[in-house]
Amino acid sequence: MGRFGSSGVLCLVTLVVLAGGRPARGDLDEPERSLRDRVYERRPAMVETLKRWVDINTGTWNTDGLERFASILGAELGELGFEVQSEDGVTLELPERSSARTGPLIVARRAGSAREEPGPRLLLIGHLDTVFEEDSPFQAFRLDPGDSHRAYGPGVVDMKGGLIVLFETLRALRESGDLDAASITVLLNSDEEIGSLGSRPRVEAEAQRADCGFVFESAHSSGALVRSRRGLGQFHLKVEGVAAHAGSAHREGRSAVRELAEKVVRLEKLSDYERGVTVNVGTVRGGTKRNIVPDNAEAWIDVRYDTPELGREIEAAVEKIAETAFVEGTRTQLWGTLHRPPKVATERVDALLDRHAEVGRDLGVMLPSSVHAGGGTDGSLTGAQGLPTLDSMGPRGGESHTEREFVWLPSLPERTALTAVFLRRLIRRASPGCARE
Ligand SMILES: [Zn+2]
Repeated sequence: MGRFGSSGVLCLVTLVVLAGGRPARGDLDEPERSLRDRVYERRPAMVETLKRWVDINTGTWNTDGLERFASILGAELGELGFEVQSEDGVTLELPERSSARTGPLIVARRAGSAREEPGPRLLLIGHLDTVFEEDSPFQAFRLDPGDSHRAYGPGVVDMKGGLIVLFETLRALRESGDLDAASITVLLNSDEEIGSLGSRPRVEAEAQRADCGFVFESAHSSGALVRSRRGLGQFHLKVEGVAAHAGSAHREGRSAVRELAEKVVRLEKLSDYERGVTVNVGTVRGGTKRNIVPDNAEAWIDVRYDTPELGREIEAAVEKIAETAFVEGTRTQLWGTLHRPPKVATERVDALLDRHAEVGRDLGVMLPSSVHAGGGTDGSLTGAQGLPTLDSMGPRGGESHTEREFVWLPSLPERTALTAVFLRRLIRRASPGCARE
């Protein structure tokens, strides 16, 4: 857990957290206080909207659901004064899906008008898709019958809850007049859960046009923000061998399973915890029957690394293992990519985190020290483009990607108030973390 200024603050914060209510008054000015108060009053509306959004299935491959959801959010952005552009998805060639089409992408812009000096350009990012497709048994939003602060549902925290924080922040900042002093771009993609394989170029291009970025993935379960993240890669091996009867012609066969097994052992040996590399062969599949030499085998491999150099080194090692045939006469196809660069904590990221922590103190919100995380986000992409990015602006919850996924409902207004006051200060006062370049 994190560090706190004093035990007095800790007690007060604990009481507030237990009550699930509004935090104690801190060092806020009058407009910030009314911004916070308006946000906390909207908790019932936030929960109601979250229910509506979670009840629309938006599995990554459910194009209809994604389009429906995108049009609802596009209309909301229009009402908030954004110029909304909706783009069709792209076609991807994936090992398990040929010609797979991703869902729509929304880019919405709002240029500030109410000040002479242009404020910083903010990029706010969210994703519409979830890992739960239409055939998943996990579908609807559900309040915990024993705990009124908890709700379950597909994407309830990853990241429809995050989208609530994003949209409610915009709404609050429009009411306070701050949106008019800012230049804001909102990017919503539909393929984040497969590693943003289609939307990556758009995310990277928008990163180039902004001064700082915010991604509304959930906060760490402790409530902390994420400071840095490991890089990720995903690879797929497909091995072809030669089938033969296991009894009468074993010698003529070329076992794809044996070939894959040789590769799996070598891949796993690439893991080096000291150097910050993990290679995990997550799934293997192969063969058809016990008494046939298998002519097919495949595996999915997950790679994590701490620096771009290590990523390239591991990618080269995976390629070498893929192209080496250990069983003569087998052939291997490799698919894959380093889809999430490591998100490195820069001075400007730390400046943003300091500013954010200050807002937490002023709002009386318990914020443990920021953490290093193993998973990547679109913030990894924008960070690698040099954009100072905080990518855990969403609510608190947990068990993402499982049927126990939950959100802690009081964190919806809590994170919205944090983000609204934080962005208002970035817009109004120059910060080294978000300076116009
Ligand atoms: Zn997510």
